[in-house]
Amino acid sequence: MLDSAAEPVLSLRDVEVSFPIRRGFFAKPGRLHAVNKVSLDVQRGEFISIVGESGCGKSTLAKTLLGLQPATAGTIRINGRDLADYSRKELAHQVQPIFQDPYSSLNPRKSVAANIALPLILSESLPASEIRDRVREIMQMVSLPQRFEHSYPGQMSGGQRQRVAIARALITRPRILVCDEPTSALDVSVQAQILNLLKDLSRRLNLTSIFISHDLSVVRHLTQRVAVMYLGRVVELGASEEIFNAPRHPYTQLLIRSILPPDPAHRLPPVAWDGGGPDPTNPPRGCHFNPRCRYATDLCRTELPPLAGGVACHAWHDPDAWRAAGGQIPQL
Ligand code: SF4
Repeated sequence: MLDSAAEPVLSLRDVEVSFPIRRGFFAKPGRLHAVNKVSLDVQRGEFISIVGESGCGKSTLAKTLLGLQPATAGTIRINGRDLADYSRKELAHQVQPIFQDPYSSLNPRKSVAANIALPLILSESLPASEIRDRVREIMQMVSLPQRFEHSYPGQMSGGQRQRVAIARALITRPRILVCDEPTSALDVSVQAQILNLLKDLSRRLNLTSIFISHDLSVVRHLTQRVAVMYLGRVVELGASEEIFNAPRHPYTQLLIRSILPPDPAHRLPPVAWDGGGPDPTNPPRGCHFNPRCRYATDLCRTELPPLAGGVACHAWHDPDAWRAAGGQIPQL
């Protein structure tokens, strides 16, 4: 049970991450706003997913939470303390990553035990016997038989390698796990096992988990809350059942409709939109989704809707006034 009155384990306020870009040799330099004014509080033990298509900024946000990419503006606080005030060693005990491709995130020249132990060795001075015991304990927790201790990542299957990556993330006993598409490089049959393992570990260890995914169907049964990102901004934030059963933002509706149902006869027709995919280097004026949105009005083309009441869409901020002005309410 989450304590919503407690201080959040992770708190983001108006976080921005931008990069300098140049469109041509003679063009003026500009900036790509990969993450734009994201604010979010996450409680201890909460499992929250951040979803959106490629280029929406979710992976940049993940890197920023891990201290791998500095924020350009805004604040990130972990347990009430600014992220920038943590040393590398201290941060290793607060937040750990699980990346998409376990093969490239593990050192192929080191044994499974050495890979798992690495974050602990780098952040604490412990006797070898204690490190060995912690590695064995954590291998058992992720259901990796002890016989793999001296194996190398190249000798293991994709699912086993991802278990090694999860064990390595947990060895420092962090409070927060940042999982960046941790199952997208795995076979479908193995995906479910890894997702169930992550869910089970989060519950047993009371971990706060941030799960990054482009695929809503993956997060559906996993997560308590969902944040939907579009062109660097959170456009909808709410409880998982609300997002899946009654999505309000037209972009969330588009994502939900693209999930393949178990019975193809009951597939929802796709949401129609005008215009092509988004260009993060040149976001449209007003609501960034307006070129793709069939509900867009003149207001949408001029004013950026803030995230209010869990949704960044003019149609939902005052539905009666919106209808009275001739606007349509977005429907799934
Ligand atoms: Fe569509 Fe307007 Fe809502 Fe943007 S603000 S999602 S354009 S209805």
